[in-house]
Amino acid sequence: MRGLPAGPRVLLRRLREIMAEPISAQERLDKIVTQIAANVVAEVCSVYVLRSDGVLELYATEGLKAEAVHHAALRTGQGLVGTIAAEARPLNLPNAQMHPAYRYLPETGEEIYSSFLGVPILRAGRTLGVLVVQNRTHRTYYDEEVEALQTTAMVLAEMLAVGELERLAQPGTVIDLKRPITTTGVGLCEGVGLGHVVLHEPRVVVTALIAEDVEVEAQRLEQAIASLRLFVDDMLSRDDIAETGEHRDVLEAYRMFAHDRGWVRRMNEAIHNGLTAEAAVEKVQSDTRARLQRQTDPFLRDRLHDFDDLANRLLRVLMNKSHGPSAQELPRDAIIVARNMGAAELLDYDRERVRGLVLEEGGPTSHVTIVARALGIASVGRASNVLSLVENGDAVIVDGLAGEVHIRPTADVEAAYAEKVRFRAKRQEQYQLLRDKPAVTRDGQRIRLLMNAGLLVDLPHLEESGAEGIGLFRTELQFMIAERMPKLGEQRAFYGTVMEAAGELPITFRTLDIGGDKVLPYLRTAQEENPAMGWRAIRLGLDRPGLLRMQLRALLQAAAGRQLRIMLPMITDLWEVRETRELIDREIGHLKRHGHETPSELLIGAMIEVPSMLWQLDGLSKLVDFVSVGSNDLHQFMTASDRGNIMVAGRFDPLSRPFLRALRQIVEAAEKADLPVTLCGEMAGNPLMAMALIGLGYRSLSMSAAAVGPVKAMAMALDAGKVSETIRSLLDDQGNEDGVRTALADFAVAEDVPF
Ligand code: PEP
Ligand code: MG
Repeated sequence: MRGLPAGPRVLLRRLREIMAEPISAQERLDKIVTQIAANVVAEVCSVYVLRSDGVLELYATEGLKAEAVHHAALRTGQGLVGTIAAEARPLNLPNAQMHPAYRYLPETGEEIYSSFLGVPILRAGRTLGVLVVQNRTHRTYYDEEVEALQTTAMVLAEMLAVGELERLAQPGTVIDLKRPITTTGVGLCEGVGLGHVVLHEPRVVVTALIAEDVEVEAQRLEQAIASLRLFVDDMLSRDDIAETGEHRDVLEAYRMFAHDRGWVRRMNEAIHNGLTAEAAVEKVQSDTRARLQRQTDPFLRDRLHDFDDLANRLLRVLMNKSHGPSAQELPRDAIIVARNMGAAELLDYDRERVRGLVLEEGGPTSHVTIVARALGIASVGRASNVLSLVENGDAVIVDGLAGEVHIRPTADVEAAYAEKVRFRAKRQEQYQLLRDKPAVTRDGQRIRLLMNAGLLVDLPHLEESGAEGIGLFRTELQFMIAERMPKLGEQRAFYGTVMEAAGELPITFRTLDIGGDKVLPYLRTAQEENPAMGWRAIRLGLDRPGLLRMQLRALLQAAAGRQLRIMLPMITDLWEVRETRELIDREIGHLKRHGHETPSELLIGAMIEVPSMLWQLDGLSKLVDFVSVGSNDLHQFMTASDRGNIMVAGRFDPLSRPFLRALRQIVEAAEKADLPVTLCGEMAGNPLMAMALIGLGYRSLSMSAAAVGPVKAMAMALDAGKVSETIRSLLDDQGNEDGVRTALADFAVAEDVPF
């Protein structure tokens, strides 16, 4: 590989000096263009900066009329400069006037120039401007000159990113990099978060761009690539990485890319053209990102993402940077922005400082979402390309209800949201006033409001929300965030802590509901075509009794001398309850034989979340002490629509006749059998739906802690008798096809019930 010819190498050295000079931004830009023109032996060198209105404004020039600076302008897509900006690709033209996009700008006096070379000023794949050189004579610019110009463009991108060029913006204009942007994704966790961007994988800022010694840089790159490859190999040979499965394929692809010759060659070329190893990685990464943004094929996008991840790792190796911001660097109002992350990674952040979460990927039931919800962090997922739109420290607002992310919001958007937050806080204060009051309807019906939990971070909410207990403790969450299978002693200690925190209040522990979307990274399971209907929950528990028995033993031991409520998930047939009871009895026998104290009272319950249970309620009531309706799964299975698939998840309304009739059948059967029934799906936490449930006869509801206040306010304003009447007429009138939701909302408005 050749080194850079003397001219461009001198240019890069001069650039380094110019960057260090204590001069104004305009002077620096002017010096840069003069220097480039001299080195490339071009008559013209110009810098165009992209403004928020999509216009490329001339910011500096050598060779064009000086008066044109800050006046000459082209739209993105217009002319050669606009084409480069739109396509994020260089244009190298010996005869520019022949190009179909050529456009004459009289104010610059450029018609006499024939040859044209322009490169985009890119940062994280995003175009911030264009750098151009022009010559009178017909000439083709050398590859080395293109490279040198691209390197200079990187320097200019850095000047833009650190805000140096912002001060040059004409009154009334804003450079594109600082433009307010609203991007829409999918709301994952309700709430509004105002704060500042913290990139989960912070962009490594490359400051040394220009190589002192090409050979040294080439060696540094070689060593870094070798250590990257070792890292990927190590990852693949870890014991906890299963032999097969989707993640394995992803890692294998990583390994392949880490050995990709084209990638390594492009980085080496950049070094031989005068860049440091890290600047070379960044340059190739920026090109990849620009391609990524143009790419719509999801498969190719994924592959380009893999290269992006690898480049990040490589940069970290080269610059000795660790992963993620340290606790001290985290602002008090952090909005974490990531492509995706694991549940445990989110828990690594100081909860007190995290106001929001934005993910490029991340679906409503991904694990990180479950944890974000448990933590009450306003979250938005599927915010495509958000990583290329933000810089660390940018102001940002996350609206988890609307699924919107406002990046660098304008003052009025910020004010509107600040008002929204104040309003929510005020409402929260009102709920606080209700905290110690029992939820009793206007006509004297007592409604029991419980909360759902699963992690230690949930426990303080018990006190804060005024919930009367934990109606659903999802034990699998603790397993999901663990690095390895929790041992018996660890499980016992964990359940003990939960019981301690709950004091006298009841807790319903649900046995492990893993499988489906809830995956334990360290538990090998076969790939299934329909995991939600596959080998999950109690099915897995009964087939792998070692796992279930260990959990039962831990629960029984932790509850020594106190009440223990155990609930079984995904019960489909009665024999599953019988078999589990046998396991429990055996565990109790074991404890007694070994002189352990057993719970003072043991109550066993079943989830009703598989439709088959609707026709076995009578038999079930003889086997269990209580039931709880899992409306999330029951609705998914009754409507054959995957709750985790956003294409269908919101398609069918739970406030519909067939579903409400099913829920009524359950509550009536339970009442007849004198079987306590709770409903613990997401419906219970939605005031309008909770109103319908009270109308159907439900008197015990379990919901997220944040929903307890709003549901209590609704219940206390409600006449349960009247809503029962309304629901009855809506469900019994066979010919009526009118929307149940609308009718219920009308009822609530007429009755002054807040929802
Ligand atoms: C349900 O299915 O409604 C439920 C409460 O359980 P999970 O959401 O954990 O499946
Ligand atoms: Mg369920």
